[in-house]
Amino acid sequence: REASYARLRDVEPFTRDGERIEVMMNAGLRDDVAMLQVTGADGIGLYRTEFQFLVSAQLPQRERQARLYRDVLDTAGRKTVIFRTVDIGGDKSLPYLRSDVAKEDENPAMGWRALRLALEREGLMKVQARALLEGAAGRDLNVMFPMVSEPWEFDAAKEVFTSQIAFLKQHKHPLPNAIRYGVMLEVPSLAETLDLLLPRLSFVSIGTNDLTQFLFAADRANPMLAERYDWLSPSILRFLRRVVQSCVGYKIDLGVCGEMGGRRLEALALLGIGIRRLSITPASVGRIKELVRKVDTREITEAMSGWLANPPEDLRAELQAWAEAREI
Ligand code: PEP
Ligand code: MG
Repeated sequence: REASYARLRDVEPFTRDGERIEVMMNAGLRDDVAMLQVTGADGIGLYRTEFQFLVSAQLPQRERQARLYRDVLDTAGRKTVIFRTVDIGGDKSLPYLRSDVAKEDENPAMGWRALRLALEREGLMKVQARALLEGAAGRDLNVMFPMVSEPWEFDAAKEVFTSQIAFLKQHKHPLPNAIRYGVMLEVPSLAETLDLLLPRLSFVSIGTNDLTQFLFAADRANPMLAERYDWLSPSILRFLRRVVQSCVGYKIDLGVCGEMGGRRLEALALLGIGIRRLSITPASVGRIKELVRKVDTREITEAMSGWLANPPEDLRAELQAWAEAREI
């Protein structure tokens, strides 16, 4: 295992036709960040800040949050890190953060979680914003908001940062050099209004874990449904392709940060609909970089557009055969 990491660490993910694909990794614990060097990933496309909250017995104080963010950036060095603000609530509920609604959420994934919770627990969001701004002082800060369902939620979340920036400026505290804001696209409704938001964003990251559970109305944690729907389905791929197309013409970094991108055929399909940035589990980084080097994006784009126009009965089987014929 170690040997294969070492062998693939320095593989540069250029496709056969010379496109540089960004292969980033997902992280959530401080120690995960060391995997950047081990895997040679381009950066951290999703840092799940809620992990610190989940392993703490109480709400982590601002200094502790800021220290973590600073440590993460120190370890990452020149590589990009995208911090996602807390995605807690729902099934990741915290004993020290009770909902006003006494009753448990019946549909936790669709419940009071992530930005929905953070915007109402304003203190929590303010503290995290301050901690991120302080932790990234003198550096670049990339902030991503989870579960944005309508554009105003992005604006409200950004406003929390804007007012903290004003406060820090007023008190002459150091600030990040540059701040970039982006959203996770994981609630289907946002795809319909994404064009309204794009001019205000620096990046969009598609969270295929939640997105697919919402598209299929199929709980991602229910083992009875785990095999029922395939990521390589025309519904998902057509949906994602429309998102890619809606970003054309905007200066926007678009990527996928769900588990889908770490799987061989799925990654191939994503390249075929125009995705050029993946953020995946560290263990998959080497394999996906290797795969990228065998792909001609023009070929896979043409194949995918044929399959999505006239979906074959078994898209997975078609893609598998296509890949095998090219020794991918
Ligand atoms: C996703 O929903 O695809 C995602 C990357 O976020 P999480 O798995 O943390 O919900
Ligand atoms: Mg998600």
